[in-house]
Amino acid sequence: MHIARYLACTALFSALIASAQTPQQVFGYRDFSQQAKWDASFLSVPDAKLAGEHLKTLTAVPHWASSEQDYATALYVAGKFKEAGLETQIVPYKVLLNKPVKISIEAFTADGKKIMSGPSPEHVDPKKYGGDPFQDDPNIFPAFNGSSPSGDVTGEVVYANYGSLADFKRLAQVGVSVKDKIVLVRYGSNFRGVKVYLAQQYGAKGVLIYSDPADDGYFRGDVYPKGPYRPRSGVQRGSVQFLPIYPGDPQTPGIASTPDLPESKRIPLSQLKGNEPSIPANPLSYEDAAPILKCLDGPVSPHTWQGALPFTYHLGGTGHVLVHMHLEQDTALRTIWNVVGTIEGTDSSQKDDWVVAGNHRDAWVFGAVDPSSGTAAMLETVHGLGALLKQGWRPKRRIVIGSWDAEEEGLIGSTEWAEQHANPLAHAVAYFNTDVGVSGPEFKAAAVPSLKQFVREVTKQVSSPKGGTVYDQWKLDQKDEPDRRMPVAFTTPAIHAEDDARVGDLGSGSDYTPFIQHLGVPSTDIGSEGPYGVYHSAFDNYNWFIKFADPNFVYEQQQARIFGLEILHMADADVLPYDYQVYGREIVHYLEEAQSNSSKLKLDFAPALAAAQRFESAGASIRIRQQAPSTTTASLNRALREAESALLAPEGLPHRPWYKHTIYAPGEYTGYAAVVIPGVNEAITASDATRAQTQLAQLTECLNRAAGVLEAAAK
Ligand SMILES: [Zn+2]
Repeated sequence: MHIARYLACTALFSALIASAQTPQQVFGYRDFSQQAKWDASFLSVPDAKLAGEHLKTLTAVPHWASSEQDYATALYVAGKFKEAGLETQIVPYKVLLNKPVKISIEAFTADGKKIMSGPSPEHVDPKKYGGDPFQDDPNIFPAFNGSSPSGDVTGEVVYANYGSLADFKRLAQVGVSVKDKIVLVRYGSNFRGVKVYLAQQYGAKGVLIYSDPADDGYFRGDVYPKGPYRPRSGVQRGSVQFLPIYPGDPQTPGIASTPDLPESKRIPLSQLKGNEPSIPANPLSYEDAAPILKCLDGPVSPHTWQGALPFTYHLGGTGHVLVHMHLEQDTALRTIWNVVGTIEGTDSSQKDDWVVAGNHRDAWVFGAVDPSSGTAAMLETVHGLGALLKQGWRPKRRIVIGSWDAEEEGLIGSTEWAEQHANPLAHAVAYFNTDVGVSGPEFKAAAVPSLKQFVREVTKQVSSPKGGTVYDQWKLDQKDEPDRRMPVAFTTPAIHAEDDARVGDLGSGSDYTPFIQHLGVPSTDIGSEGPYGVYHSAFDNYNWFIKFADPNFVYEQQQARIFGLEILHMADADVLPYDYQVYGREIVHYLEEAQSNSSKLKLDFAPALAAAQRFESAGASIRIRQQAPSTTTASLNRALREAESALLAPEGLPHRPWYKHTIYAPGEYTGYAAVVIPGVNEAITASDATRAQTQLAQLTECLNRAAGVLEAAAK
């Protein structure tokens, strides 16, 4: 019954808002008219040209986390926060980071002939298509992997496709061992840290990760500087941290690495085994990987393992090709800097219920798309909030904006800050993330189910540079969803209404992870995407951005507006606009899927399904309270927020207690992509019926607790 009413309302609203008009009513507001005025004032401020200037300034030089250039970007962001009237702090942490001192990768044939000596510098022909004005900057580090140890190893090479669990199993099945070998894998399919995690478990002594042109290069389209795709010398840097175990500073899971943290509180390096890579890993371009792959013999690789280099791929392992990896890393405690800006809330009953929004600031090299496009948009959001402050607006709830550092090394700045503020964040009402803010014109979003409709509503209020609203264009783009694969930021949700814009599920790979998956803060992640073949390379720079992503910065402006409305609506809503009915329905669906995937294990799903259905119907009842004009809001809001916390299991997931959310986690073997009801699904994948039943019981308890909270408040 309530579903029908809800759908009728939404249909009416969509009819009213043909193009970026102000809605008459918005879920969570008793009366939207005052908010509509603030929204209009806000939307007029974010400026495309200024966003372009922020981007140019932030990306002028490489600004790797903890470098002095990184500190300069912190000062720039802090300056803009202060200008807008935010109470601003630069917050340092001391964390473990590796910096490459010497990276040498050489390949030889068995008779000693050198076939490759790398890594080759990232370089394109300066005479063709305008070349690249940034590639000769002396401050570009050689391509390396964050969290890789030093190492000096020589070994035979085995090609392991994407380095997924299935790929390693397949190699074992065909009798190709990776034990004491150097494994060559291609990027794609899973998080790079998972490739190393698995290679290490299978006994490899080193890992090389390259970008195959089939997934990321000429096979996708014209390469830079002619087109947006990865050129042959382009390398994808990146962390190989064991993110699915825990993110953040590897020595301090669960606690903050403040500068004064005593040494005794840090896990000694000798005890990090299993939590961190212990074998060396390094990325390669396809220019450097090709000679190795071409020389491999042994069995022909399975058909789906063949990439787009012009020869037949073999599995190797025969001693025909040897690789010598010599990596010298300077791994040390280094200082990083978050910038945190605050606007105090005015509502005495809710001013401590923080609305947090953030983006990271550090980059592997220049980081035009990742992350500076997000930071430039965020600074224009802050510009808009500053304009409202000058007009006398004050939010009900406290707004906290974070510019996180060392995200690239493993979500470190955001994780340390979230761990430090775990108590107040236990009742933070939302965390809004952006990272790859703009790489093209297609809007994408992921969110916890309770906020999926919230994101859609906001996009209906923002006009698209393509005409109509962002929401309209988002739906159109999804009609013919392209396969972008790189990076896997936005996964398709399990269920969605066919005629509505699809909002993905939150996996990992960006700063929302500590908020939602460790602390249970309802989160969203937004970006505007396009063909982006320079991810984590030196070519992700201002020149690439103005040629291929957003030459006039109009998508920057769009993202600043959407990000800002998310913050404003969450800070000022009378009633928190969470939709627990949709949340419950998604969980029912996840359980039904798990049930049909596990028939052999003979598990009892009945209690969990009953609990999920109870949660869904409690969600329907609370919706009525959320919309009732007379409801007193403080206690209702407390209950709405508590329901998400109830989904946390204090003991966390098996083998990885830092991850406490029972509905979403990065997959142990996928890393980026969300595994839903992870405790249950991973036990099923492992064919462990006892563990699966225990996990079902834990999930049942959490769902009943969450339903109970909502039922009490709906009375
Ligand atoms: Zn990023």
